[in-house]
Amino acid sequence: MDAASARCWRCLGGVAFTEVELQFRNPSVEKLPRKEILKIQERKLKAAVERAFQVPFIRRKMREQDVAPDDIRGLEDLSKLPFTTKEDLLKGDLFDALAVPRSSVVRVHTSSGTTNRPVVTFYTRSDLETWSELLARNLAATGAKPGDVFLNTAGQGMFTGGLGYIAGAERLGLTVVPMGPASPERQLEVMKIFGITVFHAIPSFALRIADAAERLGIDIERELSLRIGILGAEPWTEEMRRLIEKRLSIKAYNNYGAAELGGPGVAVECIAQRGMHVWEDHFIVEVVDPKTGEQLEPEEDGELVVTPLWREAMPLLRYRTGDVARILDEKRCECGREMAKISWIHGRLDDMIKVRGIGLYPSAVEKVILRHPEVNGEYLVVLEGYDDVKVQVEVKEQILNTERAEELAEQLSRELKATTMLKMRVELLPPGSLPRSEGKARRVLDLRRVHGGG
Ligand SMILES: [Zn+2]
Repeated sequence: MDAASARCWRCLGGVAFTEVELQFRNPSVEKLPRKEILKIQERKLKAAVERAFQVPFIRRKMREQDVAPDDIRGLEDLSKLPFTTKEDLLKGDLFDALAVPRSSVVRVHTSSGTTNRPVVTFYTRSDLETWSELLARNLAATGAKPGDVFLNTAGQGMFTGGLGYIAGAERLGLTVVPMGPASPERQLEVMKIFGITVFHAIPSFALRIADAAERLGIDIERELSLRIGILGAEPWTEEMRRLIEKRLSIKAYNNYGAAELGGPGVAVECIAQRGMHVWEDHFIVEVVDPKTGEQLEPEEDGELVVTPLWREAMPLLRYRTGDVARILDEKRCECGREMAKISWIHGRLDDMIKVRGIGLYPSAVEKVILRHPEVNGEYLVVLEGYDDVKVQVEVKEQILNTERAEELAEQLSRELKATTMLKMRVELLPPGSLPRSEGKARRVLDLRRVHGGG
């Protein structure tokens, strides 16, 4: 056993060594020393640039910056390459981003885009193979293994997270229950019938399952077999993770991806639960200053920029995700992997709300609220009047109309002021009072007269 596995042993609380080994879908790559990983990236980057150069808009951008594929000799040349953006993908014809003939495309998915036209993402047969392998790795890294029964609660249509995770779970050898979207009550029923041990959901839906279990008086530990939740596709926080873990009696893991980058499978948390490992043999990740585009150092927050190295149908170079995060400064993780880790996403650049001239991410509010055991995880930031902020928070029934409720409201307001510099009025509500959305959670309601609704 090497030193890294010994450390893993400890963080797993003493489970058998073979269990630790199972968390590597492909140990020969996942356990490579960092310098070997960088060699793979270097080799694949050159090929990825050649492929991307076949895409007219990328070729145009490269020519504008006076850079040719031959100029990219190593990773140090990465910053010579132009960025690509969501706007690039929305500008022209649907098929403009293709680097292969249309007849080589075997699948399309789209981003969930609620306001704009969604981004279409294309896959060749080989792309689908690689993608499902990445999702098998994601599941394995969280401790899922053959014998587990996997429930997918996400839509199995255009949304990448549905079919993607199903393919990954099958590849890893889990028993798949492809339930898809249904009421939390129905999901609980299916969890019970099939003895679900691992499930995939968006975090706000995991909370709704916990609410329903509470309402129905289900004893989760006794009646269900849940072990692992793999959650993502909407902004959430470490505090929300702890709450979901407690309420559903599971280990919850974050993962990262975007439809433009091929869906989930870019990065995932390992059992150490401290940051998400990027599958660096398939992606190069940078963090840049969103204003200047300059690369930032590890531990500096900025915009996540991702270059996929594996995509045949739709290669992208230095894709600006709009997600704010940082690369962690850590040489080797407890799990033994030396693939770089990114922090949780703090927010999206376009999610930032300006209140009285101060930038506010909803996640900052979530972090403060969820530190308190009296809340159930549901909250809404309401902007009204002339830049007034009200935060509505659902709390457990028994504390409403007690002295503790008044105290808690004042305490929350004080803590919110201290972390965000903004004065907010806190209103405590009984469980079930805030609207639950069918898709991704809405945490902000902008009713301001000065800035218009959002
Ligand atoms: Zn790790």
